[in-house]
Amino acid sequence: MKVFVISPGMYTYGAMVIAGIVRDAGYEVTLTRTLEAPPGETVFLSLFSTQNLMDGALKSFIFAYRNAGGRVYIGGPVSAVPEMVLGELAPDAVICGEGEAGALTLLEDGISPEVPGIAFIGPDGIVFTGPSPPCPVSRPLPFIPPDIGMQDVRGASAYIETQRGCIGACTFCQVPRFFGRKIRSRPLDEVLKEVQAFKDAGARRLSVSGGTGSLYGYTDGKLNDDAFAELLKGMAEIMGSKNVSSPDIRVDCISDTVLNAIRDYTIGWVFFGLESGSDRVLHLMGKGATAAQAGEAIEACRAHGLHVAGSFIVGYPTETIAEYEETKDFIAEYALDDVFISIAEPIPGTPLADLALRTPDADNPAFAPHMGEYKSLHLTEAEARSFDLRMHADLFKPGLHVVTDQIFNAYLAEIRKDGETVRRATNLLRKYA
Ligand code: SF4
Repeated sequence: MKVFVISPGMYTYGAMVIAGIVRDAGYEVTLTRTLEAPPGETVFLSLFSTQNLMDGALKSFIFAYRNAGGRVYIGGPVSAVPEMVLGELAPDAVICGEGEAGALTLLEDGISPEVPGIAFIGPDGIVFTGPSPPCPVSRPLPFIPPDIGMQDVRGASAYIETQRGCIGACTFCQVPRFFGRKIRSRPLDEVLKEVQAFKDAGARRLSVSGGTGSLYGYTDGKLNDDAFAELLKGMAEIMGSKNVSSPDIRVDCISDTVLNAIRDYTIGWVFFGLESGSDRVLHLMGKGATAAQAGEAIEACRAHGLHVAGSFIVGYPTETIAEYEETKDFIAEYALDDVFISIAEPIPGTPLADLALRTPDADNPAFAPHMGEYKSLHLTEAEARSFDLRMHADLFKPGLHVVTDQIFNAYLAEIRKDGETVRRATNLLRKYA
């Protein structure tokens, strides 16, 4: 049987893993980034964004493909709320949660209430066969497409999974809900074999994903910083340290060994999800660290010769102007090497989604009109804060950043798009609430 794994727009790591497992089970597999497959076959769609659920091209493809006799199964992070996937995209079935085992059982047995971890429309409505059991993290090599070297996602050809789960409980994040809060680390020799396979296939730079990199080897409530250092050292020996990055780290998951390893075996950047300068908002977000702790982590990285980038989320429901100002003060104080700003997006199945549903539009900056300094630009409060924070962050980044008309307009266009994305996601939640 031929199987087509489609990962729209980019080769996600999850799609490569599923394609690898299906290939090793003896099926003829094609992995593509475009919505194309010959009629009558089986298509796995790997989807990671709520926006995928509202994508007209995807809906049309699935409708036409099924009408022509093909089967379409959907997996990936969107499967956290299967009724939304079934309602919006109408596939044959949704593979919920960790999809490795469910994908193979579906191929072998077809759709039935006996297949664990799937959802489909039965004669009496939606049938959900219960959560998939966690998959073993030891597995075959992923299916690495021959043009992987042409892919560039935040500077890397691919983000490889070194462990599953996150000890955190950030309210806007799917990782601990999807993979759990227990850390399951992959055997080092398997990870390095995979790194070699990516290199052989032409990957130029690899990045460590898995929520927060330094949790590799985490056991019994403790970091295993030697395991993390061994991981990066092994990756650097294969790829070269200038082609390895391990950017995503929690501010409370660092140590001298962790920071030295990042300095010695990677491009030397740390990326913290800082999110806010307000302790109340950080608490609301479930970050598990205060602004002062975040500041100490930034200083520690700098003392180890690392560059530090940070992400911030503005417009969290109920965030006040005074709390937003605390974020501006934080950015001014720590002058990060790079800053990424987004508007709080309520991902289905997260506590933020529940909060967004409970918050009236007037108290939700994603909907409330901005009446201050940028009133003439007709932005929402969240969009205005995102715009203002970008301009503010540029002032404090190292080097001279001149905001030309072109940059001003590009920021504005991006921010309007972000604002629209968040409102669409919230409206989709309301439809299924
Ligand atoms: S630390 Fe990162 S991966 Fe973990 S819950 Fe928070 S945002 Fe998600």
